[in-house]
Amino acid sequence: MSTDVRKTLIAAATHFYQVGWMVGTAGNLSAKTPDGSFWITASGCNKGQLREEDFVRIAPTGTVVESYPNQRPSAEMSIHQAIYSLFPEAQACYHVHSIEANLVSHFTDSEELPLPALEMIKGLGVWEEDPQVSLPVFINHLHVPQIAKEISDRFSHSPPPVPALLIRNHGVTVWGSSPATTQNYLEVVEYLFRYLVAARQVGISN
Ligand SMILES: [Zn+2]
Repeated sequence: MSTDVRKTLIAAATHFYQVGWMVGTAGNLSAKTPDGSFWITASGCNKGQLREEDFVRIAPTGTVVESYPNQRPSAEMSIHQAIYSLFPEAQACYHVHSIEANLVSHFTDSEELPLPALEMIKGLGVWEEDPQVSLPVFINHLHVPQIAKEISDRFSHSPPPVPALLIRNHGVTVWGSSPATTQNYLEVVEYLFRYLVAARQVGISN
């Protein structure tokens, strides 16, 4: 079962690598196993050439429970751990570094990025007429556990309207009830980012 999860993550990473969202070693993907632990990409592995040995299994407490020699969990493991702790229904968490995610993080000075009221918003589970939804934005601290702490602190008081968050000048993180759902969310969020960038270029405001 756990091997299958890694295969799913490898296929997802290969796709995200090919579309330029996980260039080189950038980004990290994780998915839960039935016992509540999660497999996450190991640090420093090229995302276009992942193997099953390039994952580390982490307990909900954050300790490594299974790994291959010389493999360490992603430096951003603490963010995945925070997401699984905040949202027990989440079965996968994907984080990528796309150019558009970085560009749109400059479209707001606040802690929220208003998303365009497009039909595609339904793909994030928002079924409203003319939806006015904002994506939470976080500061990109060098010390990643600080980012994870700020995510935990904010979301435990005010849950986000969509299963996604943006780290400024860094990338986007999404989570969902399955790896397939999580991939769909990521593709929708990246579509919205591309729309925001393109809309600016042709002079359309949200
Ligand atoms: Zn990152």
